[in-house]
Amino acid sequence: MTRAVIALGANLGDRGSTLRAAATAIVALPGVGPIASSHEVESVAVTLDGPDPTKPRYRNAVVVVDTDLEPDELLDALHGIEDEHGRTRATRWGDRTLDLDVIALDDRRIDTVTLTVPHPHAHERAFVLAPWADADPAAVLPGHGPVAALLADLGDDTERVDEPRLFDQQAAAPTADRAGAAS
Ligand code: AMP
Repeated sequence: MTRAVIALGANLGDRGSTLRAAATAIVALPGVGPIASSHEVESVAVTLDGPDPTKPRYRNAVVVVDTDLEPDELLDALHGIEDEHGRTRATRWGDRTLDLDVIALDDRRIDTVTLTVPHPHAHERAFVLAPWADADPAAVLPGHGPVAALLADLGDDTERVDEPRLFDQQAAAPTADRAGAAS
């Protein structure tokens, strides 16, 4: 069983509904079970040229799940969910109805043509770190350290959206629970 951290993002369409539907679809995948989810955050769109306030703003969130899927199976399943939401990949860093990224898989290091884990940009993105720390305050980004400390160093430019977490099941302290279970 692997604990997987998945980041969700959208800046087109009904972003909140899309993130909720995607979170529901992720935990409904065979071999995937819910652990924790964040509230949504909102932030300015970032393009290859930097932040662009003229673009539709992003909504982002994080879900933490346990899975017995292999990493490439999980990525394929996430691409299937993106496709169900009309995702096209015409422009790198372009607007999108749904983007799903694998942020971490336990403390595994993966670097293949299709998958790099931990996600190479996670440590520099408040829109990943803030909802991740919200979902799991004790989270650690392998190779970089505690997520809450990374966010404090980076500065949090996201705004919490006043809506419930993406799904109800909220383990009290997923990371601590796991450490306890292993000892
Ligand atoms: P993007 O269009 O920016 O979402 O990039 C999607 C591509 O990035 C996918 O086709 C994946 O093969 C690749 N990729 C590499 N590492 C990851 C990761 N950790 N999570 C999601 N996609 C990844």
